Amino acid sequence: MIKQKSKAIAIFGAVLFLLIAAIALCLSACNPDVQQNDPPAHVHSLTAVAKKDATCTEKGNEAYWKCESCGKMFSDKDGNKEIYSVPEIAAKGHNVSDYKVTKEADCTEKGEKFGKCDVCGLTVTEQIPATGHDMQWSAEGETHVKKCTRCGVTEGEAEQHVYNDDGQCVDCGAQRSSKPYVLSEDGTTLTFGSYPQSKVEDPALQSMLNATIQNKTPTADEFNGWTDYEYYWAGSIKSFMWYIDVNYKNAKYRGVYFDEYRPDRASDEGDRDWSIQPENGYDINIVYWFKWEPITWRILSNDGGKALIMSDMILDSQQYYHSNDEDRFIEVEPYFIQPNNYKESEIRAWLNDNFYNTAFDNLCKEYVVCSEVDNSAETTAKSTNQYVCENTNDNVFLLSYKDVKDVSYGFDSGSGACEARMRKNSDYALCQGALQEDGYGIWWLRSPYDYSRMCAHIVYSDGMVGSYNLYYLDVGVVPALWLTL
Ligand SMILES: [Zn+2]
Ligand SMILES: [Zn+2]
Ligand SMILES: [Zn+2]
Ligand SMILES: [Zn+2]
Repeated sequence: MIKQKSKAIAIFGAVLFLLIAAIALCLSACNPDVQQNDPPAHVHSLTAVAKKDATCTEKGNEAYWKCESCGKMFSDKDGNKEIYSVPEIAAKGHNVSDYKVTKEADCTEKGEKFGKCDVCGLTVTEQIPATGHDMQWSAEGETHVKKCTRCGVTEGEAEQHVYNDDGQCVDCGAQRSSKPYVLSEDGTTLTFGSYPQSKVEDPALQSMLNATIQNKTPTADEFNGWTDYEYYWAGSIKSFMWYIDVNYKNAKYRGVYFDEYRPDRASDEGDRDWSIQPENGYDINIVYWFKWEPITWRILSNDGGKALIMSDMILDSQQYYHSNDEDRFIEVEPYFIQPNNYKESEIRAWLNDNFYNTAFDNLCKEYVVCSEVDNSAETTAKSTNQYVCENTNDNVFLLSYKDVKDVSYGFDSGSGACEARMRKNSDYALCQGALQEDGYGIWWLRSPYDYSRMCAHIVYSDGMVGSYNLYYLDVGVVPALWLTL
């Protein structure tokens, strides 16, 4: 009984087993995704790739191993550390220890050098990069400008120093000179004071300057903020020419306007239609602008304590005396004097009042020496001269006939053409009606001409010394003065 029961269980078990096996077989046949067995593991067949050193120009590689069949790479021979790219060694580049420079680089241009490679022996040419400018503030007198320390190229326009309370320029660090003049490097000239000189040619600046005065021009009845020059015209003062000073962007400019031409002589005779102004390119009813610039002076003598200086340019154009009346009556004294009396001349008054107060600020004035001006006959062309006046005490004066023949001042001793005596007109002087011949003007001396009470000495455009009628307005002014150093 027990045997039969266990036999039945065994049969049942075998049937169950077959059933399960059949089901499993069936399932596996119906579902292809089910893998019955892993494929056999891939065994890399590693080949060593030897280390290759880099050369100057070609890259090399570290040693590594690569499977011939699957292409995988390994950093070890056992194939444990897989790598994903060839372990390259960069090309070393040539190693030149001794270059010869064939062309130096400068601020803007590349240079070139060559040399032999210590390693491979190849001759290598290389470019040297341009250095670029080294822009630094550079102080020049009362101005500074950005300038390259190597090539000297400048950037933008020179501008006035901007001083802080310690007298140091906030931009370039220049220290304000306690003295109002600036000596040139060679010591032959200096700048001192300022005066309207160069004409403004830039139309944009012209219109900005016109805008500062609301484009207003003067008339004889309404000056509109302008100042009358009070120039002579046919022997009397008439309103026809004006000026106005404006500050614009750290610089000062003078506007000049006239609605009638300034005649070439101030006297009551002569051709009143004739003027030098249109010849010089200056016309009526136009506003001309002139920039105030430092006045350059030539040093005639210098004893270390003070210097005799004369303007390097003709700065203005004024009459010695406005009339051709032979007998000149001085109302103040009152007495009659000769028209070419320098002490009573209009040019002397103009220099010591108008020019002195226009060109020099208070600091400058402290450095102008009021000196005794020798007006003796000895300073004129003749040892006796009936028209000489007494000596005067002046801040500013004209040179004498003797002065411009003084060899120690750099002039010729003769009266003929002499380059050292030749003077150019400033644009402002040309606008005032100064005569211009071959680029040079004519200019007053203080010495009266001994043959005529109506004449004083002048220097002509070629540097010749001669004489001229007092009332002419085309004669330029070359101021001179003694300066404390
Ligand atoms: Zn492999
Ligand atoms: Zn090399
Ligand atoms: Zn440069
Ligand atoms: Zn500065």
